[in-house]
Amino acid sequence: MMIIENAAIATVDARGSEYRNGHVVVDGDVLVAVGDGPAPAEYTGTRLDASGCLVTPGLVNTHHHLYQWATRGYAADSTLFQWLVELYPVWGRLDAEVTRSAASAGLARLALTGCSTVADHHYVFPRSGGDQMDALVSAVDRIGVRGHLVRGSMDRGESHGGLPPDHLVEDLDAALAGTEAAIDAHHDPAPDARVRIAVGPCSPFTVTERLMTDAAELARHKDVRLHTHLAETRDEERQCLAEFGCTPAEYAEKLGWLGEDVWLAHTVHLAGDAVRRMGATGTGSAHCPTSNGRLGTGIAPARGLLDAGAPVGLGVDGAASNESGGLGEELHQALLQARQRGGPEALTTRQALWLGTMGGARCLGREGELGSLEPGKLADLAVWDLGGLRYAGIDDPVAALVLGTTPDVKLLLVGGETVVADGRLHTADEAAVAAELSATSRRMR
Ligand SMILES: [Zn+2]
Repeated sequence: MMIIENAAIATVDARGSEYRNGHVVVDGDVLVAVGDGPAPAEYTGTRLDASGCLVTPGLVNTHHHLYQWATRGYAADSTLFQWLVELYPVWGRLDAEVTRSAASAGLARLALTGCSTVADHHYVFPRSGGDQMDALVSAVDRIGVRGHLVRGSMDRGESHGGLPPDHLVEDLDAALAGTEAAIDAHHDPAPDARVRIAVGPCSPFTVTERLMTDAAELARHKDVRLHTHLAETRDEERQCLAEFGCTPAEYAEKLGWLGEDVWLAHTVHLAGDAVRRMGATGTGSAHCPTSNGRLGTGIAPARGLLDAGAPVGLGVDGAASNESGGLGEELHQALLQARQRGGPEALTTRQALWLGTMGGARCLGREGELGSLEPGKLADLAVWDLGGLRYAGIDDPVAALVLGTTPDVKLLLVGGETVVADGRLHTADEAAVAAELSATSRRMR
């Protein structure tokens, strides 16, 4: 057993229980006790004195493109469509070795910012690029976080009115076969799963209507979740209205892409009654505030979606549009953007933490075992170090986490196993991961 004591604790349970000086007890891969004061005497084992620290659930990242860690800093001042057009030829050089090194670096960075579960949306499958999904699973195993790997796809190249060059897209049958193979090889439905697979055609402007509908059918047949980009920019909305005569959200609903088994990245431009429809159908939103700011796409209606009853989680998005790649700071950005859009009462510090934990767990269908610190749940937690100049004297530890700069992680547990200790990656050599990535990213230029 591991007993964490003398810490401030934000459980993110349904009552929002918090303790100024509490304990968390981990037995194997589950939490067995969480509460005020010292741990009950019946628990014995390794003790961690977490004085001056805040314990929260491990953060959940609901949208990423890990391979993009190898292509950061391109098209630094462009719109989304300009950025994509500049990057597609670069991504055409992707192979499994680059993906594994980029994913390892991206996951390491996420772990070091308190993230224990990562949804990665991978949609680039160059014909001579090797086994991309295997590379991602290998990186997830190496760093030791939980992976929700979305097998993406694009089947609509330039010659069919899509944005990507033809050589970067698959045909419909290959995309569906590759998706089914990824589910069969890697999806684990067990409650303590380390790897799950979801189905993720990339976006309305890179995927045919047929692939959207067939992919949804495949996901439901296999009982896995669905994910795609939706309503990220005004350009997408204009194109959707011109081509299909409806908004992106109406298009998604028509094709079976709203529902409790769906979470959508961005959902910035939700015209008409789309916010209400997302809430009514239980469709999740992966809110990516830094990426939206980097590309200047707008501010997603996170408050409205929460009020409508939709699950809302946070996403870093790919490191090519969020070069920082850390999840802790998305708590801060989500709060700032919600208040810029809806005023000072639009999002509280506790609600920002909820988005990054339980909101994300709900998007991924993991609310039964992740997202809060409660006995019986999986032991995925972050111990944030609030010592030193950055937090000296700050009154409220949750405000320190959400309003301050991201603290160092004193301990990150995933299923009770140590992934980060004293601000350093415990599962792999950070310097080796960085050196590998530097070498492989040079090949992408
Ligand atoms: Zn994305």
